[in-house]
Amino acid sequence: MFEKSINLFNRAQQSIPGGVNSPVRAFKSVGGTPVFMRSAKGAYMFDADGNRFIDYINSWGPMILGHAYEPVVKAIQDYAQYSTSFGAPTELEIEMAELIISMTPNVDLIRMVSSGTEACMSAIRLARGFTSRNKIIKFEGCYHGHADSFLVKAGSGVATFNIQTVPGVTAGVANDTLTCAYNDLPAVEQLIADHQNEIAAIIIEPVAGNMGCIIPQPGFLQGIRSLCDKHGIVFIMDEVMTGFRLAPGGAQERLQINADLVTYGKVIGGGMPVGAFGGKKEIMQHISPLGNVYQAGTLSGNPLAMIAGYVMLKTLKENPAIYKQLDENTNYLRNGLNEVLKASGTPYVINQLGSMISVHFSDHPVINFATAASANNELFKKFFHAMLKRGVYLPPSAFETWFLCSALTNEDLDATIQAAKESLHEIL
Ligand code: PLP
Repeated sequence: MFEKSINLFNRAQQSIPGGVNSPVRAFKSVGGTPVFMRSAKGAYMFDADGNRFIDYINSWGPMILGHAYEPVVKAIQDYAQYSTSFGAPTELEIEMAELIISMTPNVDLIRMVSSGTEACMSAIRLARGFTSRNKIIKFEGCYHGHADSFLVKAGSGVATFNIQTVPGVTAGVANDTLTCAYNDLPAVEQLIADHQNEIAAIIIEPVAGNMGCIIPQPGFLQGIRSLCDKHGIVFIMDEVMTGFRLAPGGAQERLQINADLVTYGKVIGGGMPVGAFGGKKEIMQHISPLGNVYQAGTLSGNPLAMIAGYVMLKTLKENPAIYKQLDENTNYLRNGLNEVLKASGTPYVINQLGSMISVHFSDHPVINFATAASANNELFKKFFHAMLKRGVYLPPSAFETWFLCSALTNEDLDATIQAAKESLHEIL
């Protein structure tokens, strides 16, 4: 079934470290050969061997409208004749900024970058420059990209590969990153008390997607908001996953929480390499060239990325019914999975909000990294391969959320539930 992928993977390993350009793609934690893709359309991806998969990774989030969404593809094609990069300002960048500001709460100014990592590391630098403080608080199992300060107790691939300390991250940087458990407000309070006037920012995934899907418990984000207000700490909501996915205004809108700074990525690029960070004017005005907190990028505001993202966001803004449909489809999937998992007799937890969902094989609630890590992740690996064999492409790690796109049909959802039923029967 995967002969061509096996050959390609062998070849890839001769020239690319581990055969991949981003670690989790290597299937290292689930074993087996990564599937090499050739094309994708709507909810499906097609691999080098001609297999079709219903896709629940969605390029790790961006493809909320499905793959090769025609208006986005056409916009990129049309624009490419003018330029693939100017390195100078364009009207398109203004339109993109105005669109983002019109859709998102608490964003007065927005700066475009080329990845979610860049967005988060720039937001942290800005918070440090603004507060003249050095330390940040992040949460175990949250992932904010691969910048040095985020690789302490990180989620996603760092958790998948069980990397405790990332070589290359200096002790100084690590010491400036304080961590505590997700959903543990007293621990945040204690950290702040232990480091009076030292903490520049708290950065958090408002719905975590990098240890599977983890939902903030009632009062948790509100509590952080109050602590930030009380102690002059910049509250950074990392909406790289949740932005424009949970609602047009992201988690800020959906959960009714206000951030001081917010970071975006994934959906805002329509599948092109894009990130952005923005927020209140009083903070954003410290960024260069308005202020001295330096941040720059050769390809920042790249016209092809801007046009792709613009068309994507405009579609989402003008069609709020997409969110309703995504929610309904994800609820349907959740109910179907619930039924087959319950019938299988294996302990499980499904966490879901909007079109983010994940299954942990666990007999206890999964509310933070420790509870995610103590789930039966060996069983998840078997489940992953059984689903893959049946044409359902799930994230190759229990430490990743699944994403739904609006191109999924009822038949796709039913096929996924049926595949889960058969898979559970096979592996248990
Ligand atoms: N923040 C979150 C919440 C993410 O999930 C990711 C990537 O998965 C990032 C930041 C980093 O984004 P990028 O991979 O575009 O650098």
